[in-house]
Amino acid sequence: MKYLCVNCNYIYDEALWDIWEGIEPWTKIEDNFPCPVCEEYDTFHHVNEEICYLDEDTNDLFELDHFIEVKHIWEEFEVIVWWNTHPMWEDHRIVWVWLFDEYGDLIDEKFLKTDDDSVVTFDDYSIDEFEVRIKCSQHKLFAKKFVL
Ligand SMILES: [Zn+2]
Ligand SMILES: [Zn+2]
Repeated sequence: MKYLCVNCNYIYDEALWDIWEGIEPWTKIEDNFPCPVCEEYDTFHHVNEEICYLDEDTNDLFELDHFIEVKHIWEEFEVIVWWNTHPMWEDHRIVWVWLFDEYGDLIDEKFLKTDDDSVVTFDDYSIDEFEVRIKCSQHKLFAKKFVL
């Protein structure tokens, strides 16, 4: 989730944190920290983040760079981001891979570190309709719905 400080327009992204501004990894908005820029408390407001739903037939290079594929292997799902070719650098990488059920409830999530593969494995959870969302640290949220 992204939050805007209404006092100074600073944006805090819970998925990325902000070590440059001294906010430790895993810090949630509920931790009630002051805005690192204007140092005021209680100024954060949730902002809706745009989700780009990937189209199977897309020709958009930007979407293709973040394309999500799923393989169902025995009791597991393997999620692959564009044949594992997306950069996994400190300042540009896939940071999160989320698994949602068909009702939009979060089932599982994986956090990726610099130089990790952008291939992750989830348990099957006996679902046949689900949505995978990924967060790129430089780009937006990408998502794809799957029906097995
Ligand atoms: Zn502020
Ligand atoms: Zn990217």
